[in-house]
Amino acid sequence: MGVAVKRLPPQFSWMSPKLEVRDTGKYGKGVFVRAGQRVRKDEMLFVMGGEVIPASSEVGDHGVQISETMVLATPNGMPPTEADFLNHSCAPNAGFRGQIMVVAMSMPTGGAQVTFDYAMCLHPIDGAARYEMPCACGAKGCRGVITEDDWKRPDLQRRYDGYFQWFLQEKIERQRRHSRTRKEGPR
Ligand SMILES: [Zn+2]
Repeated sequence: MGVAVKRLPPQFSWMSPKLEVRDTGKYGKGVFVRAGQRVRKDEMLFVMGGEVIPASSEVGDHGVQISETMVLATPNGMPPTEADFLNHSCAPNAGFRGQIMVVAMSMPTGGAQVTFDYAMCLHPIDGAARYEMPCACGAKGCRGVITEDDWKRPDLQRRYDGYFQWFLQEKIERQRRHSRTRKEGPR
């Protein structure tokens, strides 16, 4: 009577088959481009999923801020997904497209670690402690400390234009329009 179907574990995120999770040898696991693979600029690398929770209630680091008040997080008690192993770098090769997609910002080749900059998604959260993280990414120009206000930096806004989380990209563009209007004055 019927065939026993083995239920697959729930998938909360998708990772490009060109990538793999392995040990960084320095700070736990990371996501790397597989040997012999080449990633094109703007190629889709991840589609992130999970549960949407108020940002002020997030525990731990297994989530990404998708609005000023919401976090998309791996559900409590579930093992981390591959996307949870994406590390920060002050010289990243990936960024966001919209809220749940991670795309390549440059063209990393086999062996390169895939990283994004936390500045691309961090924003102060009402009622939560200020976020500050010492950084030892080793990149040239490492900021030393990563904070929830880094998205405001003009140099980062230029460098990551089009690769911020949607809510930050929108906010930056709104501010740009506003300052342009002010400069031009009333018509
Ligand atoms: Zn750094």
